[in-house]
Amino acid sequence: MRHLVSSFAALLAGAVFSNAAAADASYTMADYGRVVKIDAHLHLHNVAPAFMAAARRQNFKALTINVDYPDFPPLDDQQQAAIELKQQFPQDIAWAASFPVDGSDQPAWLPATRHRVDTALKAGAVGVKVWKNIGMGLRGKDGQLVMIDDARFKPLFDDFARRGVPLLGHQGEPHNCWLPLEQMTVNNDRAYFKAHPQYHMHLHPEMPSWEAHMAARDRLLAAHPGMRFIGMHLASLERDVGELAAFLDKFPAAVVDVAARIGQLQHQSHKDRERVRRFFIKYQDRILYGSDIAQAPGQDGAALAKEAEGVWRMHWRYFNTADSFKVADLDKPVTGLALPRDVVDKLYRKNAERAFPGAWEAKP
Ligand SMILES: [Zn+2]
Repeated sequence: MRHLVSSFAALLAGAVFSNAAAADASYTMADYGRVVKIDAHLHLHNVAPAFMAAARRQNFKALTINVDYPDFPPLDDQQQAAIELKQQFPQDIAWAASFPVDGSDQPAWLPATRHRVDTALKAGAVGVKVWKNIGMGLRGKDGQLVMIDDARFKPLFDDFARRGVPLLGHQGEPHNCWLPLEQMTVNNDRAYFKAHPQYHMHLHPEMPSWEAHMAARDRLLAAHPGMRFIGMHLASLERDVGELAAFLDKFPAAVVDVAARIGQLQHQSHKDRERVRRFFIKYQDRILYGSDIAQAPGQDGAALAKEAEGVWRMHWRYFNTADSFKVADLDKPVTGLALPRDVVDKLYRKNAERAFPGAWEAKP
């Protein structure tokens, strides 16, 4: 009996020990399907039940983001698809609206845009996205590019700050865009800018610098200190976690997502894995997981689901395990960060729920 009691005590002590260790321990690939996750940056263009069923099987919820991007369906169609998705999958989907900037130098633009945003928020949008067409496409009457801190947008962003509407901002491009192809740090940037020389800023020195885009975005945030801001794509500060840390320190109301910039993090992991890991632990309340998976025109849900699962599992492996494995962005294998479970729970769910309160609840 005595022996049994002490064994039981030892067992209990072991259980307590493993609970204490659990928060610090990492998830494994076996946990991938079990843990509830949010992909806070993707682009769905129709209801795609096969995709939604696959996402649900993998315990993934999502934020689908409307973007005024010529390769995507018209904004009104994107919004209608988002509303239908939310109606059919209220606990799995949330959506962010956007607005066109053409004609933003005309007096009618501001009231029309306010109306458009109000309508979207009433229809369930949980935030509003601005894209790189501001800063890289839209031109003023003087022929100059209009930056994100332009006076024409100020009344709108004043509204957002006052009403607590999250602004999702994608300004500029990855820093690689301003480098010659051979100096780019990841293969997908090199392939993209090789195929799209019109967007490769290294070839267009007359266009604003990367620094100019970052400065305009920072002036916008400085002018709206309380505005809830989600810097898409690591706020285009993907080249260095030190620069990103300085941004997060400077703007305490800002958070960032990792969408489409995980390759640049993996590139930094090659050089100093511990530095990247320490960044994720120190800023564990400020970073949202997102994939930037985008539904291609006419792509059916099953095909999209297949593509998404590969991407999602690769990302999970990088953030959660210490495996060394090959990724398409890099020529050499990368070693995963093996982040603690509580950090991953924030990265993959809790930070998105805080950035977009109530977004994945069923609304009456
Ligand atoms: Zn995107």
